[in-house]
Amino acid sequence: MSRREEVAAGLDAVRRRIVEACREAGRDESGVHLVVVTKTFPAADVRVLAELGVTDVGESRHPEAMHKHSECAGLGLTWHFAGALQTNKAADVARYTDVLHSVDRPRLVDALARAVHRSERRLRCLVQVNLDPPGEQSGRIGAKPEDVPALADRLAAVRLLEIAGVMGIAPLGRDPAPAFERLAGVAEDLRERHPGATMISAGMSGDLEAAVRYGATHVRVGGAVLGERPLLR
Ligand SMILES: *Cc1c(COP(=O)(O)O)cnc(C)c1O
Repeated sequence: MSRREEVAAGLDAVRRRIVEACREAGRDESGVHLVVVTKTFPAADVRVLAELGVTDVGESRHPEAMHKHSECAGLGLTWHFAGALQTNKAADVARYTDVLHSVDRPRLVDALARAVHRSERRLRCLVQVNLDPPGEQSGRIGAKPEDVPALADRLAAVRLLEIAGVMGIAPLGRDPAPAFERLAGVAEDLRERHPGATMISAGMSGDLEAAVRYGATHVRVGGAVLGERPLLR
C-alpha cells in the first residue's frame, strides 16, 4: 500500500466514525470539523492530506510546526496549534498559526497581544480548559473553569485577537464523558458573554465519539488518520 492509500484509508475510517457519532448524537455532521494533527509526521503527509481534501491541520510543537508550515505554503490550509506554549514562543507561533487552541493564562494573552500588534495578523484563540476532575486539578496545562471568563474578556479586548471558543483534553485513562460535559458547560457560559465563541475543540483518536456527544465542533485526530507516530525526538 502506498502512503497515500494508507492515509486515505485512515482518513476514511475517521470520517466514518465522525458521521456515525453524529448520527448517534442526533447532530448534523456539518457541525463537526476534522483537524488532522500532523505533529511528528513529515510535510509530505500534509501534502497528501491536502490532496485528499483535508482543510485543517494541527501541530503542537514549535519550531516543527513552523518548518512544516513553510514547506506547505500555497496549499490553502488552515493551521491549528494545540500544544503547550511558552510565553517567549508566542510571537513566533502567532506568525504562522490561524487558530491557537492553547491559551490558558493572562501572560500568554499579553504576549499574543504584542505579537499581533506587530504582525498585523489576526489570530483566532481558544481558551484551553483544564478538565481534571474538580478537586484533582494537577495544575498542569489549561485554565481552571472559573478563570475562563476573565481570560476570554482579556482576549476579546485585544484588536486582532478573537475569542473563538474553548479547547479541552480529557484526562488519560478515565471515562472522558464527565470531562467533555464540563467543557460543554464552560462553553455555554462563555457564549453568553461572547456569542461568537462557538468552537469546542475536543476529542482525539481515542475519544472523539464522546466529544461529539458533548458538542465538539472540532475534533483533533492524529494517530487514527496517520498511523503510529514516529518516535518523539
Ligand atoms: C497529538 C495531539 C492530538 C491528537 O492525538 P491522537 O491521539 O494522535 O489523535 C490532539 N490534540 C493535541 C493537543 C495533541 O497534542
